[in-house]
Amino acid sequence: MTTKIEEFFNEDIKLPSPPGVALKILEAVRQEENSFDDIAKIIMVDPALTARILKVANSSLFGLPNPVASLSQATSLIGTNALKNVALSFVIVQGFQEVPEGSLDLTLFWQRSIITAVAAETLAGAVGEKDSDIFVSGLLQDIGTLVLYLAEPDSFAALLDEQRIGNITACEVEKKRYGFDHTDVSYYLLTTWGFPEEMCKTIRRHHSEVKKDICCESAALLGIASKIATIYHGMNAAALSTDVHCTLEASYNLSPEQVTELIDIVGGKSREILELFTIDPGEIKPLSQIMQEANEELGRLNLSYAQVVLELKQSKLNADKLALELKLANDRLRDLAYRDALTGLFNHRYFKDIMESELERAARYQHPFSLILIDIDFFKKVNDTFGHHAGDQVLREVADTLVKLLRSCDIVARYGGEEFAIILPETTGCSARILSQRVRRGIEQLGVHYDTHTIQVTISCGIASCDFTNTKMTLEDFIKQSDQALYRAKGNGRNRVEM
Ligand code: GH3
Ligand code: MG
Ligand code: MG
Repeated sequence: MTTKIEEFFNEDIKLPSPPGVALKILEAVRQEENSFDDIAKIIMVDPALTARILKVANSSLFGLPNPVASLSQATSLIGTNALKNVALSFVIVQGFQEVPEGSLDLTLFWQRSIITAVAAETLAGAVGEKDSDIFVSGLLQDIGTLVLYLAEPDSFAALLDEQRIGNITACEVEKKRYGFDHTDVSYYLLTTWGFPEEMCKTIRRHHSEVKKDICCESAALLGIASKIATIYHGMNAAALSTDVHCTLEASYNLSPEQVTELIDIVGGKSREILELFTIDPGEIKPLSQIMQEANEELGRLNLSYAQVVLELKQSKLNADKLALELKLANDRLRDLAYRDALTGLFNHRYFKDIMESELERAARYQHPFSLILIDIDFFKKVNDTFGHHAGDQVLREVADTLVKLLRSCDIVARYGGEEFAIILPETTGCSARILSQRVRRGIEQLGVHYDTHTIQVTISCGIASCDFTNTKMTLEDFIKQSDQALYRAKGNGRNRVEM
């Protein structure tokens, strides 16, 4: 990174030279103060330039009561210095009409520079500041930007991006990259070209936060002028307008109406001057319209913010809905793994899993635990008599009845074909027997309607029970014992409970 501006501009990166006429005018000024004749001679060589200078002298910028027809007439009314500055402005703008194609919009650059110049001149008039150089100072205060672009056209886009992304000022990004900013370059260029030192100093200070005092007055006005130009051709019109209002109201005792009027006057004059400089004025709208559009834009931004919030809420709702669907799908999957398709009861796999964990718990806390194995009596006959479908129907209705007759804490599973198991945690053998009898009676009373038939079935129950105080039983023990009890129930005539 280069830190010294004198080292940055060298044989490779040349500092632009001034247009020939500008050089001559500056020399004439240096040789003799207010040498009207010398300056007039230089200008009059170029009739087009002369005509344009007269147009500026007759424009609303100077607001002369009567039109002037000659340079001498103009100089007696607006002063030699102002005349010289107008001439310099013309030749310099003319001299920088071509730049390499890239990220610098030259028309926009000159639009803003000329509006800044007009604003500076108008402001100086409004607050009674006598600075006959202020127009050209305003015009050239940012010429450093153009020079930096000409020096490194390719880096310019990156600097602009950095400025936008980091939300920092042009001066900050330039300082970071070069060690100096465009105001330093403007100062360096104009002093090198031989502009008066006082004017160059003013330009150099236009971005600093200058307090209102005599020596900084022009620099302060240049800073405000630059903001007014950005209101017309830039972004953040609303914020800038507020800023300009605050500064002018606080530092120069202007009323809000006067400030608004001043900004509008600058717009009107700028349109006229831009045309004289043959720069497309672009759209220069009244401040009231700019503010209205800025407010509408703000409204749209708020609206789209509300839209984003709404969409986020919607996304969250969708995500919640998806999460719920996922949970339900998982539940269904788990059910598929643990449920018997025909009866909807828990299947054998679940029966074994839950038996293991319930037995472990009963053993740990020495709580009673019972198991009932149930087998439908002569079920083969049902199939044989009414068909397999009827048999399925019976199995389903027996399953439903079992669930209805049991407590919610009891677990009913389809153990196999026409066999069911009822797991009874916290249940003694005695209670299991009572429950078994209730279940047996319930099935006995069940009539399964199939076609024109009412099918009646009975069940046999085998109970195994343990209180885990003195003895411990495993899953295999429980199955073996309840199976043996069931076998006895069958042997003892069916439709019975054995323990
Ligand atoms: P017992 O009183 O001795 O238990 O006689 P049973 O006829 O009930 O016993 P067995 O074991 O001889 O016959 C059971 C029958 O249950 C045989 C089998 O076809 C039938 N079965 C098993 N699963 C199903 C099923 O899912 N649907 C139907 N419809 N029948 C089934
Ligand atoms: Mg059987
Ligand atoms: Mg059977």
